[in-house]
Amino acid sequence: MNVINNLTMETIHDTMRWTKDIGMFTIDRSRETSCLHKTTFCDDTCFNNKLERAFAHAIEPKDVRNDQAWDNLNHTKVKGLFNRKRNQTQRARLMSRGEAFATFDDLRKVQHLANSTPNTEWWIPTRAWRDETLWHDVRALEVMTPNLRILASVDPSNTQSEWERLKAEERSIMFFGDDSMTTAPTGERMFMCPKTHKDMHGHCSICKGGCFRTSKRVVVHLKEH
Ligand code: SF4
Repeated sequence: MNVINNLTMETIHDTMRWTKDIGMFTIDRSRETSCLHKTTFCDDTCFNNKLERAFAHAIEPKDVRNDQAWDNLNHTKVKGLFNRKRNQTQRARLMSRGEAFATFDDLRKVQHLANSTPNTEWWIPTRAWRDETLWHDVRALEVMTPNLRILASVDPSNTQSEWERLKAEERSIMFFGDDSMTTAPTGERMFMCPKTHKDMHGHCSICKGGCFRTSKRVVVHLKEH
């Protein structure tokens, strides 16, 4: 990756972007620095592969800015992040590119962000559950931080025992990678995501039955784009 020499300290305020497709603001990181818990299936099928082939010239410098903003997050005044934003701010996403919980250092950053924005639900699909030590601390953070909505990202390369482990901890799942599946390997009927199955763009901002459901565990099925 080309690294730009940028003397300006980037902040989350600068790099956060509105993502029309899901109807919410998103924060991103580069995949190289953050996707440390990825599967082989991620390598082959991540939707970012296609984007990078088409828009590498724009994505590479944005990755550098995003990583700089994330690195600076602990030292950034996040309060007021959503002031003067015209679009909805009740829900936002970490990340639409990259991983929120790459290392232990990210725990404090996510906590700082969430505590500074108590009126926002932060949606975090993550593969950090694949690192059991890190995942232990993510779960502890979740207990202390009521505005996190953490789902385990799962794909067809994950094993039966991994599905069972996630079920045993009552973890909601976001599954992607096999459009023919309607039932999870652990027996639950999957919730068919309205955005990807019915092309309801922007629906994530108001979706009740899927990723933001808190009343009970859900296994969300995303259809391939
Ligand atoms: S289930 Fe709902 S919140 Fe989750 S991706 Fe689909 S539309 Fe968005």
